[in-house]
Amino acid sequence: MRGAAPYLGMCATEDGQQVPLYSTNPDVVMRWLCDGWRCRYNQLRSRRTKWDRESQTAVPLNGRPDMRSDRQARLECSWLTAMPAMVLQSPNRIENTDWWSANKRRRTLKKKHRNPGMMPRFKSRHDDLYFVCWHNKGSNANYRRLNRHHGEVVITGQNPGEYRLDGQPCRYSIHIRVRVSQPIRDYTSIGVNWTRRTLVFVNDPLPIGRERTGAMVGLDRGCAHTLATSDNRFLDLPKQRLERIDREIRRRQKAQARRVNMSGKTVREYRRNPSRTYERTGREISRLYAKAHRIIDDWQHKTTSMLVHDYDLIGLEDLNLQGMSRKAKAKPDPDRPGAYLHNGQSAKHGLNHALRSAGLAGIVEKLEYKTRLTGQNRLILVNPAYTSQTCSECGYCDSRNRESQADFECKQCHMSMNADLNAANNILKRGLNHLIGLDEAEHARTEPDAQPAYRGKDASAMTCETSTR
Ligand SMILES: [Zn+2]
Repeated sequence: MRGAAPYLGMCATEDGQQVPLYSTNPDVVMRWLCDGWRCRYNQLRSRRTKWDRESQTAVPLNGRPDMRSDRQARLECSWLTAMPAMVLQSPNRIENTDWWSANKRRRTLKKKHRNPGMMPRFKSRHDDLYFVCWHNKGSNANYRRLNRHHGEVVITGQNPGEYRLDGQPCRYSIHIRVRVSQPIRDYTSIGVNWTRRTLVFVNDPLPIGRERTGAMVGLDRGCAHTLATSDNRFLDLPKQRLERIDREIRRRQKAQARRVNMSGKTVREYRRNPSRTYERTGREISRLYAKAHRIIDDWQHKTTSMLVHDYDLIGLEDLNLQGMSRKAKAKPDPDRPGAYLHNGQSAKHGLNHALRSAGLAGIVEKLEYKTRLTGQNRLILVNPAYTSQTCSECGYCDSRNRESQADFECKQCHMSMNADLNAANNILKRGLNHLIGLDEAEHARTEPDAQPAYRGKDASAMTCETSTR
């Protein structure tokens, strides 16, 4: 902190008097910024409406909408008075983007008959402490490089006239030291997460520069290998690291279950008044989960960047991931009412399973946006049915072709290879078939007299449903 002590708002003393509060404690000031930003965000969010089924009308999210402008809010809420304008204004746009992107996502998911998830809500004080500051071409949140790996971001603001302390300057500045992980490009805003102590520079993604390679690839997802490519490569998640984290999580979960058991209460009762060790273990568990997800995210980014760089056409199976990770149906026991038989749910359970399915959904998402950024690649999603049982050489399809999890041997032409690689080859073939179909359909549309030639024999060979994105 440099310069004046920022005015943080009015504060009630023990005898009920209102006194202005000033502080130069960096932690207090950062919390004030985060809380103020969240407050303004929630004021804007309260203007949104939700559909009420009973009265068949749109009602505000929570009681009365707050229609105050930035200026009014600054005057009436003392804790917003000295807030930098670039921080106070940012929720306007961010709340709007959050709201509409969440709505769009929900609509898409509903259309696909998948769980649309929760309506966007208010930000809670239990969430991470967070705020955004516009850069606005240098008006605030300026970055200055200090040495090779470190720099500082300076956020400035000023106390309004009537809250200026005698003998103090009116302006204050907050210097946030950062360790930079990559070169800083032009940015439009910064986002500060004070709980995790991270600072993000927001900018447009760079277009991915690449040369056309003419290479094509099919990708198969598997249990033994995360991805198998049609040119005989395996791309794997760092499984050992993830398993180690999984073991750590399990150890802590067992300890927690033991504590609940010893207390003789139910989980719900115990959680109402947990011990401090229990809470600490809970924090450790969520930290480990977050770490696992960071490892996966990193791997996905590296892998998809490599794929997009190396291949012009990428074929992928179009999997219903939601259906795959759905819970097994409960089997009631006919002899004992109220009891249930074993249904295999526990086998489906666990971090490993969650990771595998999360691993794939993320890959599809990242490939979609990265192929859009290059503008050259094509991503084709093909129907995955029977790709693991069909011979990629002669096209003979039989469930006996697949001898075990890893081995494939064709019963007709006796070709043998790794089962995952065989499936990847099939996926590439289907992708290409689909592409030919698309091109000819386009050709037929431009020349209405021409009969689509592929509609005969080839169409029956290409019974798979395909879709391009
Ligand atoms: Zn064969």
